[in-house]
Amino acid sequence: MPDFTLRIAHLYSRQLNLYGDRGNIICLSERSRARGITPVVDELNVGDGSDLSKYDLFFIGGGQDKEQRRVSQDLSMVKGNAIKAAVESGAVMLAVCGGYQLMGHYYQDSDGNKLPGLGLLDLWTAHPGPKQERCIGNLVANWEGGPLVGFENHGGLTYLGEKSKPLAKVVKGYGNNGKDGTEGATYLNLFGTYLHGSFLPKNPHFADHLLHLSLTRRYPGITLTPLNDSYEWNAHRAALRSARGHPLSSAVEWIFGR
Ligand code: GLN
Repeated sequence: MPDFTLRIAHLYSRQLNLYGDRGNIICLSERSRARGITPVVDELNVGDGSDLSKYDLFFIGGGQDKEQRRVSQDLSMVKGNAIKAAVESGAVMLAVCGGYQLMGHYYQDSDGNKLPGLGLLDLWTAHPGPKQERCIGNLVANWEGGPLVGFENHGGLTYLGEKSKPLAKVVKGYGNNGKDGTEGATYLNLFGTYLHGSFLPKNPHFADHLLHLSLTRRYPGITLTPLNDSYEWNAHRAALRSARGHPLSSAVEWIFGR
């Protein structure tokens, strides 16, 4: 059997690392290893690396406004162009919360500072200020490949531009802004979401979607052998019971049928 390798860049692991976001990297690594694929993970922080062409998969997590300021600067000065080039050429990227916000045009933080983002996603985010209630709680959303569950905690409200495609529709929780029913956004193989969790261990079907997209690019025709995810599906069923009967619950029913 040939040697299969998956190269993962964990962006700003020191600055952006809320609510177990690192678990996403562990999940991708373990699910690769279980299929005989060797994961190689590099942590790239402020000041590191401006040639990112060797990576198959990028992850950027969430963080506080203070950390997002440093990351926004580093994106402008060091890594931004390389990340854009990678995404435009089909590399896979998962961007969670604070990292997701910085993939849009800008994030206006709770003090009113406009932090420039990469503009890969046609969206912008504004924090209405420290006195406003944050969007906190469990989030359930319908994605085209099944339901997604996780935890959200953000002050910023995200609005999608005309070119944006939402990642999923909110069943329960706030999602992008608590009003328009959208959650996250996607462009090519870039997926932005407010789902922390850790997100991927709770959503193995989404983890495999990212793995499959990343690996197909390097090894065309590769298939991923199914893993035993019965614990995760049982947890999904328990969590989604409250969303049953909701008008957007066809994907919820899908999970009960598994
Ligand atoms: N600081 C951002 C906000 O409050 C992002 C928070 C996060 O990543 N959880 O909206």
